[in-house]
Amino acid sequence: MTGFQDNEIAKIWGEILSTDKYRVMIADIADNYPDKKSVSIDYSDINMQDVDFSAYVLEEPDRCLEIARKAVMDLVPSINKPGQGINVRIFNLPRDAKVEVRNLRADHLGRLVAVEGLVRKVTTVKPRMTYALFRCARCGSEIWVEQTGMIMKEPLMCNNPDGSCNKQATRFIEDLKASTYMDTQKVEIQERPEGLRGGSQPERLTGYVEDDIAGLVTAGNSITLNGILRSAEKLDRDKSTVFEIYLDVNSVEFEQHEYDEIQITEEDEAEILAMSKDPNLYDNILQSIAPSIYGMHDEKKAIALQLFGGCHKEMDDGTNIRGDIHILLIGDPGVAKSQLLRYMSSLAPRGIYASGKSASAAGLTAAAVRDDFGDGRWTLEAGALVLADKGLACVDELDKMTEQDRSALHEAMEAQKISVAKAGINATLQCRCSMLAAANPKYGRFEADQNIYTQIDLPPPLMSRFDIIEVLTDKPDKKHDQELSSYILKTHLRGEARMLPEGSVIDGREVSDILKETDKIKPIYSIEKLRKYVAYSKRIVPVMTPSAEKIIQDSFLRIRKMGGDGVAITARQLEGYVRLSEASARMRLSDRVTDQDANVAAELVEAYIQRIAGNDDGTYDIDRLTSGISNKDRNKLDIIRSIFNQFGADGLEMEEIVQHASNNGLSESEVDHAVRTMSDGGELYRTPSGKYKKA
Ligand code: ADP
Ligand code: MG
Repeated sequence: MTGFQDNEIAKIWGEILSTDKYRVMIADIADNYPDKKSVSIDYSDINMQDVDFSAYVLEEPDRCLEIARKAVMDLVPSINKPGQGINVRIFNLPRDAKVEVRNLRADHLGRLVAVEGLVRKVTTVKPRMTYALFRCARCGSEIWVEQTGMIMKEPLMCNNPDGSCNKQATRFIEDLKASTYMDTQKVEIQERPEGLRGGSQPERLTGYVEDDIAGLVTAGNSITLNGILRSAEKLDRDKSTVFEIYLDVNSVEFEQHEYDEIQITEEDEAEILAMSKDPNLYDNILQSIAPSIYGMHDEKKAIALQLFGGCHKEMDDGTNIRGDIHILLIGDPGVAKSQLLRYMSSLAPRGIYASGKSASAAGLTAAAVRDDFGDGRWTLEAGALVLADKGLACVDELDKMTEQDRSALHEAMEAQKISVAKAGINATLQCRCSMLAAANPKYGRFEADQNIYTQIDLPPPLMSRFDIIEVLTDKPDKKHDQELSSYILKTHLRGEARMLPEGSVIDGREVSDILKETDKIKPIYSIEKLRKYVAYSKRIVPVMTPSAEKIIQDSFLRIRKMGGDGVAITARQLEGYVRLSEASARMRLSDRVTDQDANVAAELVEAYIQRIAGNDDGTYDIDRLTSGISNKDRNKLDIIRSIFNQFGADGLEMEEIVQHASNNGLSESEVDHAVRTMSDGGELYRTPSGKYKKA
């Protein structure tokens, strides 16, 4: 490493700053100070000026930047008061200065590095005093004291050379209004999901952002922080030799559009176009989604469509219609829900895996919290859906989410924003993500003798935000069990064979033969290829053909009619049809939504509504989805209500209710269910003697 003397450094900066680009920038600052107060230097300009020096800047940023600041200040003599300054910020650092959070080491201390990540937490912006102005109580002369630490430094003596008080102990009056301040903000980034291998937890880094770049970032942003890595002693009672690291941020760069992160070359494009013409495209994609999970065809179909997504629409009046597809898997334990979610979080761009019962305060959405991180300041913390902005949020155990998430999730799923207004934090965070959620039934496992919908313990308004709800039951079935078990065993065999050196022979079988035999378990398209294909498809905005429109409308009307009177299949479900059919067209890279696509959507929607809301006689009851209570149940509840109105003044025993209700043709278990629904809803309560009474 070549060393540089101060005067050599100053000379090189001088040359860079005297180029047109920076002369204009500095003149602009001189005119608009303090609205503009930073010179942003492109690292490649330093590199072009002097290759050795550009490497030196990364090694010795403190010294080089200090000299650069002086050089800039010399060019703008009008800015010279205490506390006034111009920042020199360097951006566009070279690849070898980019470090992942998990790879930051002691070696990087004091060096200029670029760290990419998602903003997980931001504190409110607060001013920090940089120079305090004091006045001598005796002679009134002004004394400026630079402030660096946490405790205000006062002048030791009056420095008025003319006054009689010079060098004598005196009192000083601080002038808080005239003192100078700088905005400061503390942020925490976490590694981007793409950088993570095999489900490891993302690591985090704290950065301090000051002055004109404070307040630019908010939770959920995907950014690069360029700065100098520093260490701070852990604030323990005993002095410690173990240090925490943080980044003294010099500049912030925002990430471009998410799919632009995926580079598609001309060869890729040719390959993608060829893939789209393959008659087996759909099956190939299905087989590339979690191939080690057996079956789940409908689920994988829905998930494949979710990956492509419908089109986001902005209407003339500024309203937005989401294009992202939300899917809920609700099912018995041990049917590979979690496994599927984990797989998808690693397949989808910006995929985040989170659990409903997460330990963090932000949970699934976002929260304003006051914790250690903010040192007493309020902090805005992003939850899973915000971190998955423009990606896929895989939320496991949705039924175990917090109360706070329960109420915030509606807005998050439909408007794709989360508003936080608390304690001076007033933020709207974007969460333009698709959601793939999994939940268990109310009693842990579906009970065969009860309707599906009564066993789903999620608020109906939340349920109606999902475009597709898949029910997974785990019933013993000889054929299925046999196939499932041999599939899982084969998966393991293939896994074992992959670990052995080529050419090995086990029990007379060549490893290569085993691999060939179990070839089905290999994805047809690699994760990388599929990601590129999906990214490419997002360029396409498919338009609905009139006949596709008709198919969707017919299906919609069919369901409505079957629902009978007073049943509202909402516009939400209709929008679901549109999104799914658009996704199906995108999958083929087609700019038209054709009959084929409309049929795919209609089949999926009708199948899921039949499963959840289907009555035994083949009619549907969407009310179950939107209010949680079916028509038939509503009538049952009315019967129980009228029984209570007539006979229930002093409360009724269960047997009495059953007896009265039997006159209306209700069975004991129907009564039991209705009474339970009414108790849950707060309409009835139980007296200490065990009677039911109207609340
Ligand atoms: P859940 O989250 O639904 O309770 P898990 O994802 O934890 O279930 O699955 C438990 C295990 O069962 C998985 O690790 C997987 O090996 C196995 N398993 C269950 N169903 C399947 C399937 N259809 N194909 C392959 N493996 C399965
Ligand atoms: Mg699970």
